[in-house]
Amino acid sequence: MSKLRIATTSLAGCFGCHMSFLDMDEQLLELLKDVEFNRSPLTDIKQVGPCDIGLIEGGVCNADNVHVLREFRKQCRILIAVGACAINGGVPAMRNHYTLTECLEESYLYNPGLDQPLMPNDPELPLLLDKVHPIHDIVQVDYFLPGCPPTPEAFLQVLGAILQGREPSLPQALIHYD
Ligand code: SF4
Repeated sequence: MSKLRIATTSLAGCFGCHMSFLDMDEQLLELLKDVEFNRSPLTDIKQVGPCDIGLIEGGVCNADNVHVLREFRKQCRILIAVGACAINGGVPAMRNHYTLTECLEESYLYNPGLDQPLMPNDPELPLLLDKVHPIHDIVQVDYFLPGCPPTPEAFLQVLGAILQGREPSLPQALIHYD
């Protein structure tokens, strides 16, 4: 049986969802019998190629995020929004209560901890969007894996179901957080 090819990336996220994925520990070795990785921090491959599953962590906060997300959608048969930031904007979307100008001025000009206030304007920097968006605002998403971060068991449940050709579903215990 050929292996399922998986790609992963973090947009406006903290890599906590990736760290939780790695917390599968030895179960990750089991999983590797059935899957291989394309673009991912795990492989350092920079361009996503044709894949069965794309796991996206993080919200969409800048033009580069939009580009990467659209590339994933084009290349991945199944796209999964992983974690609160991808699903509803999460922590990065807290800036949506303020205008972009207010955020930038507070961060780079008026923060009392700044040594040399300076607004960054390097053309290499990706342009920020006015608001942080969940990924389903930009592309169609096939499945949502909630949590901040989702537990390793939740990753295993979803990937295991897809590997077996079943519709993924999470038991209550894996989507109950208090
Ligand atoms: Fe980090 Fe939580 Fe967002 Fe995942 S959902 S990227 S762990 S803040």
